[in-house]
Amino acid sequence: MPPRLGCIADDFTGGTDVAAALRRAGLRTTLVFGVPDADTELPADCDATVVALKSRSTPAAEAVAESLATQKWLWSQGAVQVFFKYCSTFDSTAEGNIGPVTDALVEAAGARITVICPASPPNGRTVYQGHLFVHDQLLSDSPLRHHPLNPMTDASLRRLLTTQTPHRIGLIDHSTVQRGADAVREVLLALERDGVRHAVADALTDDDLAVIGAASLELPVVTGAAGLAEGLGRAYPTGTGAVDVPVSRTGPAAVLAGSCSARTLEQIDRFSAAGLPAYHLDVRAAAAGQDVAADALAWYEAQDPATPVLLYASASPDDLADVQGELGVAAAGEQVESLLGALASRLVERGVRRLLVAGGETSGAVTTALGIRTVLVADEADPGVPWTYATTPSGHLALMLKSGNFGAPDLFLRAFEDVQ
Ligand code: ADP
Repeated sequence: MPPRLGCIADDFTGGTDVAAALRRAGLRTTLVFGVPDADTELPADCDATVVALKSRSTPAAEAVAESLATQKWLWSQGAVQVFFKYCSTFDSTAEGNIGPVTDALVEAAGARITVICPASPPNGRTVYQGHLFVHDQLLSDSPLRHHPLNPMTDASLRRLLTTQTPHRIGLIDHSTVQRGADAVREVLLALERDGVRHAVADALTDDDLAVIGAASLELPVVTGAAGLAEGLGRAYPTGTGAVDVPVSRTGPAAVLAGSCSARTLEQIDRFSAAGLPAYHLDVRAAAAGQDVAADALAWYEAQDPATPVLLYASASPDDLADVQGELGVAAAGEQVESLLGALASRLVERGVRRLLVAGGETSGAVTTALGIRTVLVADEADPGVPWTYATTPSGHLALMLKSGNFGAPDLFLRAFEDVQ
């Protein structure tokens, strides 16, 4: 079995993001959804495997257990090193889950030190003197200060980690990174001798991340955002450069949107404005017992199969608040997710071969409904938004899963440009 880079992502679309980064680094990459089990099969010839969990905001003990089970499975599949991928905003609470999961992975691997670096320079996330910046602002001055789940009110990664781990925390400063991989390796050894477990690394550019990646090759566990995964991937011995994944470029195409994020609403507008067929799924009608999926399928059957179609439940913030007020937030979400999951299965049964799904939760609902556990990662249409290649009982499927706010406004048009 060839050596592989294993990766654990703490959320679903983070998994797609890091898988795209590893592929960019030249690694043939497989993405697995959820904790793998004995039946999860990997293609024989991939260099990297990403397992996407939903462990960012779950109780720490649960996140640790799922991450450890995944690490064990990655080892059994030939992974020599495990990268723990979290958000480039260090999205976490005083209890975790970044610290507890990292500690558990490091201990299970028998390691003594790991790197912490959430920098993602293309997205404006940089680390300097151990502080996380969002463009020109400290994390704590940025809009992330008001994040609905985990407000980030401190930009010092070392201070943030203090409440999440009992272990010592150190710094690899930018002047060290500028001196190259050997200098970083020396500082890592010195920190390890001092009993430091978590080495926060400064990084301002992708080149800095490549240096840190090269210096981290021997560490059993490395942690960061997609940027450091790419840096590590570039230094990886099995990187093959050109990677060919047989994604279908033709065949009936559909977009299923369940995200209500501003960018997805823009993408829907652009698709409709271009005169392409779009169908709005009425959540209230579905909740009232109407067979909205059947109506949508009847509409689909009447469309030209050579033209991409869009089916969307997405609503503007005001409409969303109204529906949620009427049905309850969880009930409305479940209604939408089961509707989009059912539609995905029936569209694929009817011959759809290219499917773009907008929304993190929505993507989870669709892959579950399609019974897809493993995909091969192909070209990116936009940064962090790759096509993937899946196998379903109805045949092969080109599948794109995007986080609500990802992708350019014209993504829904460009994704299928071959048939337009
Ligand atoms: P994002 O990646 O933008 O956060 P998600 O798919 O993760 O998108 O989340 C969007 C949530 O909004 C889903 O739970 C979905 O079911 C719900 N939703 C979508 N459209 C509606 C609607 N019209 N009414 C109520 N809830 C909706």
